[in-house]
Amino acid sequence: MRTAIFPGSFDPFTVGHYDVLEQALKLFDKVIVAVGYNATKKGGFFDPDTRVEIIKEATAHLPNVEVCTYTGLTIKLCQKLGVNYIIRGLRTTTDFELESVISQANKKMDPQINTIFIPASQEYSFVSSTVVRDVLIHGGDASLFIPNGVDINKYKKI
Ligand code: ADP
Repeated sequence: MRTAIFPGSFDPFTVGHYDVLEQALKLFDKVIVAVGYNATKKGGFFDPDTRVEIIKEATAHLPNVEVCTYTGLTIKLCQKLGVNYIIRGLRTTTDFELESVISQANKKMDPQINTIFIPASQEYSFVSSTVVRDVLIHGGDASLFIPNGVDINKYKKI
């Protein structure tokens, strides 16, 4: 069974993340969405457990998706779970520059682990968690950027 990890902050999970996840599910039998957070540094907009709840609500109809939280290096999570593929989405050339460096560092630390880049679909390439947080803070309609079936306004912010 081919399994991949899709790591990120997901603060919160957006239609852009959902789009990458759907594409990843065409390549892998199972995708584990892993919410990364810094255990020592408080912060974030939604706490990690809330982010997990939002992702579970967005993916409830997808049988091959699991959701977890983690801290520390993504390759350590991969090693713990026995998974050799990391999914990352690419929106811009800036994403590519940052992500290619991280993927090379990961490969150096563990040659077994491969990063698969999935390009953003054109209609979602401008969507980011930052935009969603700004819209929420200022009382705009964030549902435009959140996957169907998720009522983002019901979740408590930090
Ligand atoms: P991180 O803080 O690790 O970058 P994010 O939650 O911002 O986490 O993003 C997780 C992953 O999803 C990253 O690979 C990011 O490039 C990708 N991503 C975010 N938004 C989009 C989008 N609109 N389209 C495609 N990929 C995206």
